[in-house]
Amino acid sequence: MPSSLTNRIALVTGASRGIGAAIAIRLAGAGADVAVNYRERATDAGAVVAAIRALGRRAIAVGADVSDAAAVAGMMRQIEVELGPVDILVNNAGIGPVRTLDEMTEADFDRTIAVNLKSAFLCTQAVLPAMRAQGWGRIVNISSGAARGAGGVGVHYNASKAGMEGLTRGYAARLVKEGITVNAVAPSLIETDMVRGGVASSPARIPMGRFGTPEECAQAVLMVIGNAYLTGQTVQLNGGMSFI
Ligand code: NAP
Repeated sequence: MPSSLTNRIALVTGASRGIGAAIAIRLAGAGADVAVNYRERATDAGAVVAAIRALGRRAIAVGADVSDAAAVAGMMRQIEVELGPVDILVNNAGIGPVRTLDEMTEADFDRTIAVNLKSAFLCTQAVLPAMRAQGWGRIVNISSGAARGAGGVGVHYNASKAGMEGLTRGYAARLVKEGITVNAVAPSLIETDMVRGGVASSPARIPMGRFGTPEECAQAVLMVIGNAYLTGQTVQLNGGMSFI
């Protein structure tokens, strides 16, 4: 039996480490060829590419700041030439600089919205023509429990993730007749650099008593991609921290 994502081409933004790296490797395990986007950490992205090639799939590392329209356009050109048009887009790249209300600056707000939210718009607009032409596509946006709850990062992060869920529903509604599903996965407290180096968090906050793993996030993304009737939804993944 061929794997279900065989001959699909995926782009995962921010896939050099953490949740994005786990998603990229799991997509390859399901048969997809994968473009591994990163911002700075080329060596880490290269290791993810090597792990994917070891699974027998094609993979390339693509450096681009996904908040920058020209960089996104260049990234998409490179992927199209080296792998082909993108069938599966996972908007995962994100930042979470911790700021109190008093510390917050306009620059913090603008940068966080640009990296976490505008990037998803830019990447989605870029992949839609090919998805619409073939009548099939999967878009998954990595949101956060901070889209609904306070979280420990700041209001800039809350706003960026709530905006991402609005973007998810807006695109889902407009693409529902075209074979393209758009969903969000909203994790809370996954053990990555973002949690280790930023939000001062303890697993004691989590009813399950532990942080989630990047692999558990990746499993949720694959579940969403595998379901053709699911669109415009947010799947929460939070060890029982919230049910709304
Ligand atoms: P992470 O370990 O800090 O990794 C962030 C990734 O995003 C890296 O690959 C980084 O690339 C990339 N990146 C950052 N800015 C970028 C930009 N402008 N252009 C392209 N790539 C960029 O973060 P993570 O914990 O895996 O988080 C991944 C996503 O999940 C984020 O959207 C985050 O908001 C969300 N999330 C995480 C948690 C959690 O508990 N960890 C909870 C809720 C939501 P470089 O390596 O090159 O810097």
